[in-house]
Amino acid sequence: MPRPIFARISRPALSHNLDVVRRRLDAARPAGKPARVWAVIKANAYGHGIERAVAGFGKADGLAMLDLSEAVRCREAGWQGPILLLEGIFEAADLDVVGRYGLTISVHHPDQLALLGHARLARPVDVFLKLNSGMNRLGFTPDAYAGAHARLVALQAAGTLREVGHMTHFSTADTGEGISAQLEVFRRATAGLPGPSSLCNSAASLRYPEVAGDWARPGIALYGASPFADESAEALGLAPAMALKSRLIGTQTLRPGDAVGYGGVYRAEGPMRIGVVACGYADGYPRHAPTGTPVVVAGVRTRLLGRVSMDMLAVDLTPVPQAQAGAPVTLWGDEGLSVDEVATAAGTIGYELLCALAPRVPVHFEE
Ligand SMILES: *Cc1c(COP(=O)(O)O)cnc(C)c1O
Repeated sequence: MPRPIFARISRPALSHNLDVVRRRLDAARPAGKPARVWAVIKANAYGHGIERAVAGFGKADGLAMLDLSEAVRCREAGWQGPILLLEGIFEAADLDVVGRYGLTISVHHPDQLALLGHARLARPVDVFLKLNSGMNRLGFTPDAYAGAHARLVALQAAGTLREVGHMTHFSTADTGEGISAQLEVFRRATAGLPGPSSLCNSAASLRYPEVAGDWARPGIALYGASPFADESAEALGLAPAMALKSRLIGTQTLRPGDAVGYGGVYRAEGPMRIGVVACGYADGYPRHAPTGTPVVVAGVRTRLLGRVSMDMLAVDLTPVPQAQAGAPVTLWGDEGLSVDEVATAAGTIGYELLCALAPRVPVHFEE
């Protein structure tokens, strides 16, 4: 028998979450002008698998990612719609693939403009010029934007490019600071320039749907996790697309003062039973999750104890005294335990846990 750990990934949940985000966007727009949605599937679709994401997001208007090989996998999985490379190309050879597979590329750096200037593409491609509106990650500064745009328009006239759009990325859409300063920079830099716009990640799509422009770019919400620290995925109407499940493979009875796991960092205060779960950091469970991190055993919420090992972790069986080896365990994404709650307990965000699901964990795909 294989180790009892597995991830359950739900196609209906992926599709449902896309609908939820789309409804939010469209409710803020004039009737008959629906938003187009790039479903962001970078990092192996946030751990869910490219092919499964292609199946789940069949009704998206486009798919967006960073990795050329993931883009090619989408085409091979039958996706015929637009595909956006969020970081564009990294070297000249990438342009061959871009032309051959009809990919849309972000252009965020002068080197990419130079490469496009020499490109001999199989067919004209669409681009989104990226503005650094204040996040200071990727993109042209407002001062350089018009010049970069003029070069793209020249390449459009020369037949290298088809559509030239505009994109930017908000750094504080999930906080009280909001997006107004960056939005103002974007509006000023793109004023009077033709072409579609793309502004909003999940947080901005959900909180500021009215500014989404022509194409929204939600990621995390599509997987059923929240982009916000102060609003749960459940409250947003999102359904977890990934559940990490396992079983108890052992139990121990402790006396007061007995220590649990490496470093003996948890010590029993009184007599207690603990369970040992087949799940460790080599499965993608965060090693830095502390004692107290929520875990569900046999349908009952309890807590992690001591340090997470490579292949195992220990849980308190005090609230589930009947639990024996073989009892089912939910690490996240089911039975009311969200990945965001586990992430918060571990001092990180749901994104990191989903992306870190290890290749060794078998996936059960619910079609
Ligand atoms: C990752 C990413 C997104 C999606 O962000 P979420 O917070 O997961 O919704 C959108 N746009 C760009 C450029 C990204 O890198």
